[in-house]
Amino acid sequence: MNQLIWFQRDLRLNDHTPIHRALSQNEPTLFAYFHDPQQAQGEANQVWLAASLSKLQTALQAKNADLLVAEGEFSQAFERVLTTYNVKNVLYHFELGEPYQTIQQQALAVCQRLKVRLTPFDQAWLPPESVLTQQGNPYGVYTPFSKKVFSMLDGVPKPEGEANWSNFQPVTLENHDRQLPSRLKAIANTDWAKPLISQWKVGEQAAINQATHFLTTHIQHYPERRDFPAINGTSQLSIHLHFGEISSTRLLESCRQAQANQPGHSEAIQSFIRQLIWREFSRYLLFFNPGLINQAYQSKFNQIDWPEPDDQVVAWQRGLTGVPIIDAGMRQLWHTGWMHNRVRMLVGSWLTKNLNQHWLVGQAWFENTLLDADIANNVMGWQWVAGCGVDAAPYFRLFNPVVQSEKFDPQGHYIRQWLPELAPLPNQLIHAPWDAAGKIKQQFPTLAANYPLHDPNLKQVRLDHQQRVQA
Ligand code: FAD
Repeated sequence: MNQLIWFQRDLRLNDHTPIHRALSQNEPTLFAYFHDPQQAQGEANQVWLAASLSKLQTALQAKNADLLVAEGEFSQAFERVLTTYNVKNVLYHFELGEPYQTIQQQALAVCQRLKVRLTPFDQAWLPPESVLTQQGNPYGVYTPFSKKVFSMLDGVPKPEGEANWSNFQPVTLENHDRQLPSRLKAIANTDWAKPLISQWKVGEQAAINQATHFLTTHIQHYPERRDFPAINGTSQLSIHLHFGEISSTRLLESCRQAQANQPGHSEAIQSFIRQLIWREFSRYLLFFNPGLINQAYQSKFNQIDWPEPDDQVVAWQRGLTGVPIIDAGMRQLWHTGWMHNRVRMLVGSWLTKNLNQHWLVGQAWFENTLLDADIANNVMGWQWVAGCGVDAAPYFRLFNPVVQSEKFDPQGHYIRQWLPELAPLPNQLIHAPWDAAGKIKQQFPTLAANYPLHDPNLKQVRLDHQQRVQA
C-alpha cells in the first residue's frame, strides 16, 4: 500500500507529523508538491517556493527519497499521481484560507472517489476550538487571546524532531515527475527574481540556522530594537515560517529552551513569543472567519465606497510618494521582497488613510511582492492598519509619517539606504524634504529632478480623513 506525503506550506523534513506517521507504517512512501498555476500565490512567493522545493528535493535525496512536483489543474494532477503510483493513503498538514481550502476540498473529493484515505494534521500551537473566552466564544481582541495562549503554552505539542528513516521504502518516480515544473522554473529565472532570491538563504537548514543565530545572539536586544528599521533587530524568520521551513512549535520550544538557558533574557524572549502569538492569532481569526480574506472584520466598513486606484497608488508602489519613510519602505519591499514591520504599518496607513484607498489594494500589492506574503498575517495586518479589523487602531487615527520617521529612523540611515538620491540631505531635512524644497532645488538639482518635493499637506489630509469618517 503506497502512501503519499502531500506538502503544501510545510517544506521541511523535521518536526513534520505526517512524515513521522507515514514512516512509522513501514509502507512505501512518496513525497509530492502540486503546483496549480491558477491557484498560485504572488509572484515573489513563487520565486521562494521554487528555491525551497529544490532544497527540499536535495534533502529528500539524501534520505534516498525523491520529490514529485506536479504542475497543472490541481484535481487532475492529484488524481493522476494517486492512480499512477497506486496511492492508498495521503497524509498532509491542513492549511487555512484560500486557495488552500478549495484545494483541500478538491483533494477530499478525489480521495472519496478513488477510495483513498486522506489524513490531515494541524500545525497550530493549539486547536482553535480549545482557545475560547469564558462564555465559550472565539476571541476577537489580541491581548486576552494572548494571555489565554500564554496560560496554555504547556499544552502545545513538543516538536517531534527527525523521523526514523531506517525502514523507509522509496517509490520510484517517473522521470518527468522529478523536474521542477516549467512555469515555476520560468518565474524563478526571470531577471528580477534572481537578484531578489540571491539576498536570502532558503530552506529548512537556513531556517534552523537563522532561528538559532537570532535566539543566541540578538534576542536580548529584541524589545528595544524591533521598531527601528535601520537595525537588524528582528528575527527575519517570517518567510521561513510562511513556507513551513521551520515549524512554529519548534520555534516556540527553542524560545522556551532559550528562556531556561538565558534567564536574564527571559523578558526579551517573552516579547518575541508575543509576536509569534500574533501569528497564531491571525490563523485563529481566519479559522473562525474565513470571509476575512476580502471582507472587513468590522462589517460596517464593507459599506464604504472606495475610489478607483489612481496614479497615486502607482507612485506608492514605486516608492515615489515624496514621503521618504514611506518610499524607503516600498523600495525595501521591491528590492528585497521583505519590509520591516514598523514600516509596513506606516505604508499601510498612508495608502488607506492618506490616499483613501481600499485596504484590499494594499493587501494585493503585498500579496504579490512580499516573499513572506501570508494570507492570514497579511489580511490581519491590512485590516489592522486600515482600522477595520480586530483590535485595530481606530479608523480615524492616522500615523504621522514624519513623527514616526524622526522617532524610529532619527539619523535617516534607513531612508538613505533605500533612497540613495536623498543621501546628501542633512538629518534635519531628510524626514520632510518638502519643508525646504526651494533650498534643495538650488543646492541639489539632480535630487530635485528625481524625487518629488511637493508638500503632502499632512494637516489638510488629516482633516479630510476625519471628515470622511464623520460622513
Ligand atoms: P519578528 O519581529 O522577528 O517576529 C517573529 C515572527 O512573529 C514573524 O516572523 C511573524 O511570523 C510573527 N509576527 C510578527 N509580527 C506579526 C504581526 N504583526 N502579525 C502576525 N505575525 C507577526 N507577516 C507575514 O508573515 N506575512 C505577511 O504577509 C504580512 N503582511 C503584513 C501586512 C501589514 C500591513 C502589516 C502591518 C504586517 C504584516 N505582517 C505580515 C506582519 C509583520 O510585519 C511580519 O510578520 C514581520 O515584519 C516579519 O519580520 P520578522 O520575521 O523579522 O518579525
